[in-house]
Amino acid sequence: MSLKLNIQLEPVDLMEPITTPLPVNKARRWNSPYDAAGLQPLVSVFVTQPAYSRICVHSVSDMDNEVGGIMVGEWCTDDKTGEQFVVVEHALPARHTRQGSVYLTFTQDSLVDIHDEIDAHFKGKKIVGWYHTHPRMGIFLSHYDTWLHQHFFPEPWQVALVVEPHSANGGFFIRQKNGALDPTRYFGFHELDGNFGRTMVFWTNLYLYENEEGETSNE
Ligand SMILES: [Zn+2]
Repeated sequence: MSLKLNIQLEPVDLMEPITTPLPVNKARRWNSPYDAAGLQPLVSVFVTQPAYSRICVHSVSDMDNEVGGIMVGEWCTDDKTGEQFVVVEHALPARHTRQGSVYLTFTQDSLVDIHDEIDAHFKGKKIVGWYHTHPRMGIFLSHYDTWLHQHFFPEPWQVALVVEPHSANGGFFIRQKNGALDPTRYFGFHELDGNFGRTMVFWTNLYLYENEEGETSNE
């Protein structure tokens, strides 16, 4: 199969994280039931409201077949703690996917499209992961999803988002610090809203986490 040979991501030596403060004071934290399970995700995930909205609109556009796409943004390390995080700034629906009720794949054409679109509109941004839907299924990574993630999104900091549009559930699959990828235990995320307007998150399996000091954490 020639697929792997033809897919050219950025050269590895250009893949450097941006050093910037963890934007916790501009974000709401949404936890999954597994966030307190003692797992050690390598990165935390921040999602801008426009990107979240785009993914949700795409996710409900087909309630029977899987749809999906690429998440584009930044890979960062906190300037003080060195803690790693990714920021999902844009969602690019994959146009030429082969869709079925139980699988979704990225074809050569859709990946070429996506790289062209990043070059044209999001120069310098990184593919921080991918998303897809599981209509009437749960939030998990199938064997095929796991294979796809390891082959097309092999950077330790790249993440996978699964959305179930009927029950309005969603969760992120993030590699742990030891490299392990748990296909059943998903994580929540930080909703990035610099203006602190209304939340846009409506996934019913996540809950708003507030630390002991209150809504925001002050340094
Ligand atoms: Zn899947």
